[in-house]
Formats: sequence, C-alpha cells, structure tokens
Amino acid sequence: MIKISNVTKKYGEKKALDNVSFEVDEDEIFAFIGHNGAGKTTLIKAIVGVHDFDEGKILINGKSIKEDPVACKKEIAYVPDNPELYENMKAIQFIDFICDMYEVGQERREKNIKKYAEMYDISQNLNDTIESLSHGMKQKVALVAALSHDPKVLIMDEPFVGLDPKAVFDTKEVMREMVKEGKTIFFSTHILDVAEKLCTKVAIIKKGKIIKVGSMKEVKGDKSLEKVFLELEK
Ligand code: ATP
Repeated sequence: MIKISNVTKKYGEKKALDNVSFEVDEDEIFAFIGHNGAGKTTLIKAIVGVHDFDEGKILINGKSIKEDPVACKKEIAYVPDNPELYENMKAIQFIDFICDMYEVGQERREKNIKKYAEMYDISQNLNDTIESLSHGMKQKVALVAALSHDPKVLIMDEPFVGLDPKAVFDTKEVMREMVKEGKTIFFSTHILDVAEKLCTKVAIIKKGKIIKVGSMKEVKGDKSLEKVFLELEK
C-alpha cells in the first residue's frame, strides 16, 4: 500500500506537486494520468525515494520513505520511463546485480530470470552488453530485473512506451497476476484506453494538483476515460 499525504514539492519557487494526497491499495491496479509536465514523474520519484519533497508524508506499506528509506526501497521495484542501465554490463550481470541488491536467493533468482526473460523474449540476449541492445530491449531488461525480486510494490513510469505489442500484453498480464497476489501496482501513462481497461483506480493530476481520484467507475461514469480527461483538462 502507498499512502501519500499532503505532499508538496517545489523546484525553486514553482510547485511541481501541490498538497497531493491519495492512497494506492494492494488489490488495485492504479493509473496516474496527466498532461506533459503535470507532475507525474515528480511524484513517482518522491514515492520511490529518488528525490526529496518539501512537505507531507509518503508511506510504503506503513513505513515512511523519508524516515526509513532502505526498508521502503526493499519492497519497491521502480521502472523509470527511460531506464538508464549500466551500459557496459551484460544484461544478465545487471539483472544479477539487482537481485544481489534485493538479496534474492539463487534458486528463486534463476526461476524468475528464466520466467521473465522467456516471457519478454530476451533469453538469447542475456549475454549481450546493454549498450548493444535496442531501446525496447533495454526496457525489457529493466522489467526482468524489476520483476525478478518479486516486489511487493511495483511502480512504473510510462511502462508501455517503446514496448512491442506482445511485451505490452505480457506486462498487463503480469500486473493482473501481481494484484491477485496482493501486490500494489501504480503507474503513469498517457495511453488512456489501456488505463481504462486495465485499472480499477485512477488519479488525474493537473499542474501539480490532484483534480480527480477514485475508482475507474467513479471517475469516468458512463463516458470514456479519454473524454472525462479531456473535459477536466480544458
Ligand atoms: P511528462 O508526461 O512530460 O513526463 P510529468 O507529468 O511527468 O510530465 P514532471 O516531469 O513531473 O511532469 O514535471 C512537473 C513539473 O516540474 C514541470 O513543470 C517540469 O518542468 C518541472 N520539473 C521537473 N523536473 C525539474 C527539475 N529537475 N528542475 C526544475 N523543474 C523541474
């Protein structure tokens, strides 16, 4: 569970996040949507402890990301919008490095790496250096690394951009499987029809403020999410 309470983040005098509050529960796939520059990445980076925020509180499964960052990070997998991996490493070295960080035992590691590398069709690329991979393949390596440590909380910034259709399909399936197991999933996206079909909850951010949050049904009513979003953004 992620609990965000009254979070404000400024860049200089400008508020990128303005008193943001909402919760992401275990059994929900939660979409975070908003125009370019609305504050999505800023909030995601605050949640995962990549950067600080000025006011408010963020709890990951009851622990504060400010006061107990290591305990929080142990529960989180974060896939950024533009994964910056160690280019000189082989894909498998990077994935193993992440598994080492998360103290994943050998048996579970081998099982998970096999499962996700096969699913994303990169088994034959695991010994390639990351710099030799295409953008989408790098993204797949980041996903395999993220999923291989069985995170309790999966946070992704625009996960579907750059992935091929099969990888998009498989990622959605993995997300559905994970919520069934009681995991927490929160991701930003501009692809509103995917969000509408996949997610049970949604928050819309505009100029750093949450302008709508709730179940997908509450937020969109009888309209499409796209229509509601465009009306709110006027
Ligand atoms: P996009 O959909 O384009 O990825 P976003 O919703 O993720 O956008 P953010 O990257 O969170 O938006 O940016 C929110 C605001 O904060 C924008 O006005 C942006 O210009 C500003 N901002 C982001 N990072 C910085 C920074 N390092 N320094 C100053 N301003 C920043």
